[in-house]
Amino acid sequence: MTALPVLIVGAGPAGLAAAHALASAGQPVQLVEKEKVLGGAPILSGYAKLVPSGEWAKDAIGGMVRRVEENPLIVTRRGVSVASFDGGPGAFKATLSDGTKVNAAAAILATGFTHFDSVNKPEWGFGTYPDVVTTTQVEQMLSSGKGVRCPSDGREPERVAILLCVGSRDRQIGRTWCSKVCCTVSANLAMEIRETLPNCNVYIYYMDIRTFGLYEDKYYWESQEEFKVKYIKARIAEVTSDGKRLIVKGEDTLVKRPITIPFDMVVHAIGMDPNVDNMKLSAIFDVKLHPHGYIERASTYAAMSGTSRPGVFVAGAATGPETIDDSIAQGQAAAMAALACCHELVGEEAA
Ligand SMILES: Cc1cc2nc3c(=O)[nH]c(=O)nc-3n(C[C@H](O)[C@H](O)[C@H](O)COP(=O)(O)OP(=O)(O)OC[C@H]3O[C@@H](n4cnc5c(N)ncnc54)[C@H](O)[C@@H]3O)c2cc1C
Ligand code: SF4
Repeated sequence: MTALPVLIVGAGPAGLAAAHALASAGQPVQLVEKEKVLGGAPILSGYAKLVPSGEWAKDAIGGMVRRVEENPLIVTRRGVSVASFDGGPGAFKATLSDGTKVNAAAAILATGFTHFDSVNKPEWGFGTYPDVVTTTQVEQMLSSGKGVRCPSDGREPERVAILLCVGSRDRQIGRTWCSKVCCTVSANLAMEIRETLPNCNVYIYYMDIRTFGLYEDKYYWESQEEFKVKYIKARIAEVTSDGKRLIVKGEDTLVKRPITIPFDMVVHAIGMDPNVDNMKLSAIFDVKLHPHGYIERASTYAAMSGTSRPGVFVAGAATGPETIDDSIAQGQAAAMAALACCHELVGEEAA
């Protein structure tokens, strides 16, 4: 095995899983994270109970962080990014933003995604009305233990609308992809709201429901049958206010009639944009981007962890919208690919 470490960029679920897998196989790792805190979106954005496990994010992902922090083969570098990256497999040279030089045998980009910024959908009220919030804000309300409250005056909402596909499946704003997890996350949040505020009515406005795979029973049906969450198939026109309550206007696309319903709180189920750093990462690491702006994989099957540059691998939501469990699986797959790359190099040296 080469003594040179594998450089992992990004310490979310994918990067943490890759680091742990490599270290478990005896491979040293340098883990570079631009934030001061490890754990990626679930920790940085304060997610509450995760789907599908129901575990609190701080416990589930916090455990992954601790496992990495305690491993002597993993050096973590927080609050820094990679400024330059040269060389080839077995002999990469990275310079970090604090001037540190790192020599690496291979690299894994586990740089994740950026939450869609709802101000890019101004007609749906975010940024104009304080009680129009995002799913991440509701996650934070639940994980802080304070409960779901209207930001304007702290009251318990009696009627909440969750709008799906905000920043996803929307050609008008150039985001045609489905963010994969937000239907399930929203059904889960709706049930949590009903559980903590039994007098609150929760409505989910949808185009299609994509509680994919095994999530259909546990989230889609259970939210309706057990928790009495109401689903409205609709096209939303705008979110306004009558001075007292928020007004959601749109068209019920099943009965083809306009609908106008008042709410105390409106929640945007925001999508997963490509990481805003991806242009920079593409230039520094000389890797190609997918037309939507995510980091492109070398191939779908044969080299799913590869990028356009040999010795540089990719995992998790850096490649497109992904769930946590798939991001972890991809982190482990990228670790295996990087390890194989290190072994090939040792073989070449010995020959
Ligand atoms: C509201 C919401 C709720 C969700 N809830 C769930 C859920 O319950 N269950 C589920 O399975 N999925 C959920 N997801 C999806 C989940 O967030 C992703 O699957 C997961 O975060 C992807 O992990 P990752 O490690 O690939 O990326 P991320 O979590 O985005 O981590 C990437 C890391 O890389 C760092 N980074 C980025 N750029 C750089 C750079 N240039 N240099 C250094 N470091 C960098 C970031 O700071 C971050 O720490 C949810 C998504 C949303 C939007
Ligand atoms: S998962 Fe659901 S809410 Fe998210 S983009 Fe896809 S269809 Fe829309």
